[in-house]
Amino acid sequence: MTALLLGALGLTLSLVVPGILAGARWPDRAPAAAVALWQSITLTGVLCALGVVLAGPQELVSELGSDRPVGAAALIFALVIAAVIIVRLLVSLVRVSIRSRARRSRHRLLVDLLDSAERHGELPAEVPAGLRVLDGPLPFAYCLPGRSPRVVLSDGALRVLDAEQVAAVIAHEQTHLRHRHDVVMESFTAFYRAVPRPLRSRAPLDAVHLLLEMVAD
Ligand SMILES: [Zn+2]
Repeated sequence: MTALLLGALGLTLSLVVPGILAGARWPDRAPAAAVALWQSITLTGVLCALGVVLAGPQELVSELGSDRPVGAAALIFALVIAAVIIVRLLVSLVRVSIRSRARRSRHRLLVDLLDSAERHGELPAEVPAGLRVLDGPLPFAYCLPGRSPRVVLSDGALRVLDAEQVAAVIAHEQTHLRHRHDVVMESFTAFYRAVPRPLRSRAPLDAVHLLLEMVAD
C-alpha cells in the first residue's frame, strides 16, 4: 500500500502539479518562495521514486507470502534500482556542471578579447570590475557566473538606455551572480536530464528560469 501511495504521489508531483503551479498567478508576487516550492516538489518527487523502489518489492513479497530467497532477491533488486536512480542524478549533475563551466570559460575568454568598455564614456561612474562591452547594434545584457564573473552589455544596449537604466541592468545581472542563480538552474537542468523521457516535464525548468528573472528584478 505504501508503495502505491508513494507512486501516486510521485506521479502527481511530476506530471500534474507542475502544470498547475506553472499556470498559477501568485508566484509572480513571491518568486523566491515559488522557486523554493519548485525545489521541494522536485526533491519530494525523487524521494517518492526511491520510496516506491524500496517499499514495492518488500510489499509484493509479503502479499504473495513467498519464501526467503525470493524476498532477498527482491530486496537486492530494489537496492540496485535505488542506487541507479541516485547515480543517474549525480552523474547528470556532474555532467551539467562540467559542461557549463567549460562553456562559460570559453565564453569569458571571448568577451575579454572583444571587450570595448574603455571606449564607452557613457558607462556609470562605478562599474563592476568584470564589466565587458561588446560592439554591435543589438541591445542585450547577460552575465557569466563563476569564480571570476563577467557582466556583458552590448554597445546597442548602451545606446538605447540612459545612465539610470544601465545601472539597473548591471544591478540585475549582479543579483543573478550574487545569488548564484546559475547553480539553481543547473540543478533543475540536471534533474530534468536524469528523469526518463515519459516522466519528465519541462515546466519546472521554464518556470524557475522566469522566476529567477523576477527575483533579480
Ligand atoms: Zn536576468
